[in-house]
Amino acid sequence: MYRSHTCGELRESHINSKVTLSGWVQKTRDKGFVVWVDLRDRYGITQLVFDEDRTASHLLEKARHLGREFVVQVQGEVIERASKNPNIPTGTIEVLVEELTVLNTSKTPPFTIENETDGGEDLRMKYRYLDIRRNPVKNNLIFRSQVTMEVRKYLAEKGFIEVETPYLIKSTPEGARDFVVPSRMNEGQFYALPQSPQTFKQLLMVAGMDKYFQIVKCFRDEDLRADRQPEFTQIDCEMAFVEQEDILNAFEGLTRHLLKEINGVDISAFPRITYDDAMRIYGNDKPDIRFGMEFAELNDIAQHKDFGVFNSSELVVGIAVPGAASYTRKELDALVNWVKRPQVGAKGMVYVKCNEDGSYKSTVDKFYDQEDLKKWAEATGAQPGDLICVLSGDKNKTRSQLSALRMEMAERLGLRKPDEFAPLWVVDFPLLELDEETGNYHAMHHPFTSPKPGQLEMLESDPGAVRANAYDLVLNGNEIGGGSIRIHDKNVQETMFKHLGFTPEEAKAQFGFLMDAFQYGAPPHGGIAFGLDRLVSILGGQETIRDFIAFPKNNSGRDVMIDAPAPIDQEQLNELHLKLNV
Ligand code: ASP
Repeated sequence: MYRSHTCGELRESHINSKVTLSGWVQKTRDKGFVVWVDLRDRYGITQLVFDEDRTASHLLEKARHLGREFVVQVQGEVIERASKNPNIPTGTIEVLVEELTVLNTSKTPPFTIENETDGGEDLRMKYRYLDIRRNPVKNNLIFRSQVTMEVRKYLAEKGFIEVETPYLIKSTPEGARDFVVPSRMNEGQFYALPQSPQTFKQLLMVAGMDKYFQIVKCFRDEDLRADRQPEFTQIDCEMAFVEQEDILNAFEGLTRHLLKEINGVDISAFPRITYDDAMRIYGNDKPDIRFGMEFAELNDIAQHKDFGVFNSSELVVGIAVPGAASYTRKELDALVNWVKRPQVGAKGMVYVKCNEDGSYKSTVDKFYDQEDLKKWAEATGAQPGDLICVLSGDKNKTRSQLSALRMEMAERLGLRKPDEFAPLWVVDFPLLELDEETGNYHAMHHPFTSPKPGQLEMLESDPGAVRANAYDLVLNGNEIGGGSIRIHDKNVQETMFKHLGFTPEEAKAQFGFLMDAFQYGAPPHGGIAFGLDRLVSILGGQETIRDFIAFPKNNSGRDVMIDAPAPIDQEQLNELHLKLNV
């Protein structure tokens, strides 16, 4: 028997009992006449003591030579600690060691296995198995496991069936590049790894499974913008005989359950906002509504006043930043430079200080008098002490620039509190999105999303105006889930493919199986997928999904621990009928 207890288990009630523990040597403190060893496992740390008076001298000697991360087993007696440590649950006791077995030695680890480590990101990723021994990482993985357990529990109770779908498939259209896998047995042919199980979950509805879910890996070969992973996990769901309302209710339920069970937070309201309103009020389709600073469009009151910049702008829009009127000239200049950074891209910024005495001081005093500026303050809801920031230009660009500023100011003002949760649904997304470069429309969600009832004809006359039965669940400024009611009629699906620029032959070659299935009694259906990595990191009050993934990839899509991707040898290439072109 390697252990009678874990290293996190012993308390005062165990005093005088004989125990066996196994674990890793966190650290050794040698005071000459006494040696203390912190023994660690997943459950905690227990202090071991070896001393001149009570421990055999060969044991004391052996303890002195224990290195960091040695794996040891000890037997001994639980005794009361002389100087107690209130910071750890085992802090009132220690184990007076009577037998010590080294189960394995360890090289000195390349970084300290402590909560605060000296190891940089790259080093920690190369030795991720050591990194996971550290509390912050270990606790994140335990947290993730709790979340997935709760998800399974909740969905199972609601009658969802977990079904696995294949990984070696044909392309699924989620808008990214596919990872492909060459087929040895089918010369010159390739599987694609699923960007999501989209078509399979729809087929499961045709198959009569009624309520499906799966916690599943998805693969998207995208350039890795900050905090994306080429393989990530979704909570993927689909339901038959549902309308949008049914899906929203079901997954509001799941989210409420998680916030309650995991975070102890009761959320009653899941406000809904249309995509158009989200863009107008927050400049963003995943608004963080934990704080205000809502956009006020100022065209009516700020144009036609001799200020050419505003007059020639499609949109003039501002926000009131609480308390920022006290910014110094230097700070304001820095803020203007911040919005002019290429990442934000504004040409400049007009600002108005709302003074405590009710007067206004702006960068455009030449063009606007106090009465004008008062109107701006009313429109933005600015109070004395606030700073009104105004951007102008092309509608879409200006909205996204002001959205970036809004988030930045919220961050600076500490308004993005990790322990505060504000979910909301964004609904009525456009069905199609115009690709500015090619001038073609593509599906904003994916090609299986159904248009709003009665809007199918508009695909001909005004494709950009067609709205979809599509929805996103947003939590604290992050899209944590998205889905739609699907097309379940073959003819409608064909029309949709046509508008997305597929010839009938292309549509048949790529998605013929789905259209065939639609001819065998496809029920009305819809679904949603949650990004599990992101959801877990938000519930965990953190920002980086990598911290909640056991073995993540770096920004170049590499696993630096196993050193993948890697070349394969000629023989393997031959077997796969591949010739490299590099
Ligand atoms: N397959 C979609 C996605 O990955 C989700 C859905 O429509 O259910 O975003």
